[in-house]
Amino acid sequence: MHEMSLAEGIVQLVEDAARDEGYRKVRTVWLEIGKLAGVETEALRFCFDAVTRDTVAEGARLEIIDLPGQAWCMQCADQVEIAELYDPCPVCGSFQMQVTGGSEMRVKELEVE
Ligand SMILES: [Zn+2]
Repeated sequence: MHEMSLAEGIVQLVEDAARDEGYRKVRTVWLEIGKLAGVETEALRFCFDAVTRDTVAEGARLEIIDLPGQAWCMQCADQVEIAELYDPCPVCGSFQMQVTGGSEMRVKELEVE
C-alpha cells in the first residue's frame, strides 16, 4: 500500500513548513490529487490519520481536491479529459494519447494556527 508512504511524505512536508514558519497546529490540509495518480483516497485518509498522531497535524482535516485527468490526443490534435490511465480518446476512440495532467499529487494549502 503506497498510500502510507504518501501520507508520510505529506506529514513530513507539513512538519517542515511548521518549523520554518513557526505555527503550532495544522487544522486542515488541502491536497490536490490527479485522477490518474493512482491514489486510493480512502486508504490515504486512513494512513493520514495514523501518521499525523503526535505531530503538528494531529487531528487535522484532510480535504482532497480531485484534478481531472488530461491527455493530448494526436488524432484530434486536441486536449481531452480522461478518467483513467490508458483510456482511449473520448472523442475519436484513439489510443494515441499523451497524458498531460492529472498524474500529480501536491499539498495546495494549509490552514494553521
Ligand atoms: Zn481523439
